[in-house]
Amino acid sequence: MKIFQVSHIDIDLHWTFLLLLAFVLLAGGIDSAIIMLVLFGSVVLHELSHSIVAKMHGIRVRRIILLPIGGMSMIEEFAMPPATELKVAVAGPIFSFFLALVSLAVLALTSNFDVLLPITNIAAAAVEANVMLGAFNLLPAIPLDGGRVWRALRQRHRDYLTATREAVSLSKLIVVLLFIGSFAAAFLFSEWAFLFWNAIVALFIFVGSDMELDGAIFKTASDGLFVRDVMRPKPVTISGEKSLRDAFILALSTRSTSFILTGKGVTPAVISIGPLEKIPQSGWKGRKLSSLHPIHVHVSPETPAIEAWKRMRTAGAELSPVLANGKLVGAVYEADIERLIYLKKIALVS
Ligand SMILES: [Zn+2]
Repeated sequence: MKIFQVSHIDIDLHWTFLLLLAFVLLAGGIDSAIIMLVLFGSVVLHELSHSIVAKMHGIRVRRIILLPIGGMSMIEEFAMPPATELKVAVAGPIFSFFLALVSLAVLALTSNFDVLLPITNIAAAAVEANVMLGAFNLLPAIPLDGGRVWRALRQRHRDYLTATREAVSLSKLIVVLLFIGSFAAAFLFSEWAFLFWNAIVALFIFVGSDMELDGAIFKTASDGLFVRDVMRPKPVTISGEKSLRDAFILALSTRSTSFILTGKGVTPAVISIGPLEKIPQSGWKGRKLSSLHPIHVHVSPETPAIEAWKRMRTAGAELSPVLANGKLVGAVYEADIERLIYLKKIALVS
């Protein structure tokens, strides 16, 4: 659920967040709800600082998602150099500590005036929230910021995948320690809510670190893979002047559901015969194939395979014409790229 947009970055609120807000309002009243909103405002600013530093380095940021246990920036991290990842990762905690200092100043300035009590209370909550956020995120457990910093530093001596593997192992150790620590604290001080909370956080780190490893394997497997390595040199082509019936006959004989559409003076595009499902057969003979809305997507032999895959995904095409100097030299299939990356992944894991 999108709530607002800051410099082209969507900020989404996960629905469970509203559930939590409702719960806090019912259980703790308006004061607790305000403290919670301060905490989440701090989370948004923390995430935004990551996103803004990422954008300054030319990295796309898709959105920020707010979950009850914190925020997540969806940053396109493919091929982010370690030095950039380091800067993006530290930006969040640094900004949180900066906000804590600003809030502390506001607290000091307002605490002597009774009429400003609401502001003093909000400032006090903001100091606590931002110190907590900054410190918690510096835990060296990937996907937390501290874990990313650690991985970036390790990449001076290790490749990306090995550094990620090591960061994930460290993460799991921290999860175990966090869990044992919370268990002991819960027993000693009867703080069961604290145990419950930390268990959720530990689970989040555990699952998140595995996803991080999957991502690193995927990235390494697709590294150095280009369209020229996956393309098929003789694609099935058809002219837009042909009828829907001709296209269907070609589909049957080649067992394809999409073709490269060619024609004089037009850039090759992709045409799927899927829409035929909704057109009565009686109309197939008299209707031109070009009336079916071709999908305009193309790549070059030098396009990275993963980029080609993303373009096809976005366009909703299962294949794409490969053009060199404006001429059709082949076709690349979404499924071929997936299979090749899958095979390279097997080689990396085993
Ligand atoms: Zn962060």
